Amino acid sequence: MYFATYEYKSDQAIGIVLKEEKQMIPLRDIFQAIDRNCPANMNEFISVFDDNMMEEIQSIIKSNKVEAIDINDVKLCAPIPYPKRNLICLGKNYLDHAKETQGLPGGTTEIPKYPIYFSKIANPAVGDGDIILSHRNITEMVDYEVELAIIIGKDGINIEKEEAEDYIFGYTIVNDISARNIQRKHGQWFKGKSMETFCPMGPYIAHKSIIPFPVELDIICKVNQEIRQNSNTKKLIFDIPYIISDLSKGMKLKAGDIIITGTPAGVGLGFKPFKFLNPGDIIECYIEKVGSLTNTFEM
Ligand code: MG
Repeated sequence: MYFATYEYKSDQAIGIVLKEEKQMIPLRDIFQAIDRNCPANMNEFISVFDDNMMEEIQSIIKSNKVEAIDINDVKLCAPIPYPKRNLICLGKNYLDHAKETQGLPGGTTEIPKYPIYFSKIANPAVGDGDIILSHRNITEMVDYEVELAIIIGKDGINIEKEEAEDYIFGYTIVNDISARNIQRKHGQWFKGKSMETFCPMGPYIAHKSIIPFPVELDIICKVNQEIRQNSNTKKLIFDIPYIISDLSKGMKLKAGDIIITGTPAGVGLGFKPFKFLNPGDIIECYIEKVGSLTNTFEM
């Protein structure tokens, strides 16, 4: 099951995406059919969702009681347009990416022994089809990073690796847009990754029930159709159970939290000469079974 936030007739709503049929089923109508109040947004939906609700939703969809919208008639937003907290990010979590950034100005020379955590402001996050602003007055080194994002489904602290999957709601794609000169200038990554529109997210959330665990998915980023990044999430240095267990030691994870798991080799910074984004570039981030997220860099 795929969950989306979308705009239809200038109204923002949450819905179920039927990928094959290319349709959106408004959750508001589904909740009306089961005689419950519809959560106001994706954050609220995640916090009340459980297996029973999934069965109820599935049976309503099968019964054809609810009218679908043609997916071409909606504008997809980031599935969580207003994350409640900053995104939790991992740096250098693919070996080939850790190597490509070795020795570069601002890069360290080591492969991490422990996860590198940092955070990114993504409120609001932008969706599929949206423009990434260039911020040309302060940077000409804007880079792309395709990443698998984990959406946490329930609050938890001191989570064991073996129970990590229980705390996941689903997965989406985040393009961790980064202004490299600003990352370097400030000696840490927070500001260079937190500028307006620097968090394209989507196109929707794939519920965990459709993603086999452990999560081994092809992950690709193309710029103007040229493949720049091409890997598989099985190559994460610190895998998903490790990340959830380690992060949650003494630090509560909350429903709706978003953890982005790092990017593989092939970012613009890894090329000689660099391949940063140019005006009008089209960036497509793809993850198997999750979908495809496409954005244009401001002209
Ligand atoms: Mg990143």
